[in-house]
Amino acid sequence: MAKKKFKAESKRLLDMMINSIYTHKEIFLRELISNASDAIDKLYYHSLTENLSGLNRDDFAIRLEVDKEARTLKISDNGCGMTQEDLENNLGVIAQSGSFQFKRENNKQEDIDIIGQFGVGFYSAFMVSDEVTVISRAYGADKAFEWKSSGADGYTIEEADKASHGTDIILKIKENTEDENYDEYLEGYRLQGIVKKYSDYIRYPIKMDMERSRMKGEPKEGEQPEYETYIENVTLNSMVPLWKKNKSEVSEEDYNQFYKDKFYDYENPAKVIHSSTEGASTYNALLFIPAHAPYNYYSKEYEKGLQLYASGVLIMDKCADLLPDHFSFVRGLVDSQDLSLNISREMLQHDRQLKLIESRLEKKIKSELLSMLKNDREKYEAFFKSFGLQLKYGVYTAYGANKELLQDLLLFYSSSEKKMTTLEEYVGRMKEGQKYIYYACAETTDRADRLPQTELLKDQGYEILYLTDDIDEFALKMMRDFSEKEFRSVSDKDLGLENKEESEEIKKKNEESAELFRFMKDALGDKVADVRLSERLKSHPVCLSSGGGLSLEMEKVLNSMPN
Ligand code: ADP
Ligand code: MG
Repeated sequence: MAKKKFKAESKRLLDMMINSIYTHKEIFLRELISNASDAIDKLYYHSLTENLSGLNRDDFAIRLEVDKEARTLKISDNGCGMTQEDLENNLGVIAQSGSFQFKRENNKQEDIDIIGQFGVGFYSAFMVSDEVTVISRAYGADKAFEWKSSGADGYTIEEADKASHGTDIILKIKENTEDENYDEYLEGYRLQGIVKKYSDYIRYPIKMDMERSRMKGEPKEGEQPEYETYIENVTLNSMVPLWKKNKSEVSEEDYNQFYKDKFYDYENPAKVIHSSTEGASTYNALLFIPAHAPYNYYSKEYEKGLQLYASGVLIMDKCADLLPDHFSFVRGLVDSQDLSLNISREMLQHDRQLKLIESRLEKKIKSELLSMLKNDREKYEAFFKSFGLQLKYGVYTAYGANKELLQDLLLFYSSSEKKMTTLEEYVGRMKEGQKYIYYACAETTDRADRLPQTELLKDQGYEILYLTDDIDEFALKMMRDFSEKEFRSVSDKDLGLENKEESEEIKKKNEESAELFRFMKDALGDKVADVRLSERLKSHPVCLSSGGGLSLEMEKVLNSMPN
């Protein structure tokens, strides 16, 4: 039989494909299963629109079959199948996608979720195979055909036997080389793992015979139990993604279990956010706010990101562009049908789409956190203990650009409430005529409470925020004010309290004692910038105060930073 030649460019394209498009060889299985799922989708779609009888949704399945001796892996489906012409057009012409055409012709119906679009995925089979055989029978056709190729040198098509409609793809798996292991693609557990990773949410069952072992009868007393192996036909994928279910169908326990399994946490999440959007970009998102920070959260090792699915198929495990840094603690996934993927389906073509989703998720996460703050204060405070630092960094690093977004989520310790307070609550309690939001920095709230500078303010009934994290004051400086009230350190020269009469008197006294102060200043040398009489001391004889915009604490932090 005459071999038909690929066109010269196609040959190069195939080489390129096989060797450079994909980062991981294992994705060949994802591609072939996606094709099988597409083929079933198409037939199912026809069965609905053309009222085909004898087709039952429950009979549709994808099967994997391994023959270790022959070194073959077979992927079968009972979908629409291909005619001789289809085989020529879709598998003989690289970058020809029957699925893309199908989508175009049937302009995207409801219950169809076709994955293919580039017409290259199929050839990824050559990354792991010496030879690929496709035996296919189109639905309604009485003949089946076999397409066979061992790569760049071309393909053959001939008539074949196949009892019913659908397609079998038979891969002759390569021999191991020094640096590549191919045997693994003949191991049931490895295949199961790959299916779980990429194709868990394919809507049809993916079935495979797995070898299991069980105890052979009851062991006699004092004897070791005997084991026997048996074959079980198992469905490898869970099929319906939790996030595509209606919220009312999913229990809290389901969400929690899903989170713990998928993101390897031992504790239930503090909050589950399940949302779907239609419109400019349609997606389902299932997000979790962990109850505690992972051990490496505040280190460089921590990698933020959400899983990204396109129509239920995993595209990226940690898509960083979906999460702003200040919410980097959020775990979860996004599934969308209208992502424009690049050809390897490992990335997106435009990050515009991601940006859009990111900004929507950002709003959503914020509103969920706010509602936690309002409705479950205790939980929110626990959350803030874990991740508050990240929110404050968020305010600081964006040079205040995130002020609007984050300011209502911040908590600080309050001198008068003796617990954490929001800025809004603080402002609500401000005294009449109070100009500023006061804060004091110290290592602990106790120490802040004992500072000479806080004494007078407290005495006069002012509330003070006690800042204990290094980042706190930097964040407040970036924000400048809240609700039009400026932040002011208790060690600042101007606390906006001085009444005129007292000030005059202090000024006079300062002048009278000028000589004494000069003497003290000389004695202290360059340890101080100035010595003055203060009006804000009560029981303490002396206090340090800072002149410029920086508080003493801030100066300390800056001095301790490596240059
Ligand atoms: P894509 O899936 O992006 O269209 P592929 O290279 O994976 O590209 O597949 C090319 C085409 O071959 C598909 O569009 C489809 O028309 C056809 N095809 C591949 N596998 C099957 C299958 N199992 N059943 C029916 N048609 C298939
Ligand atoms: Mg495909």
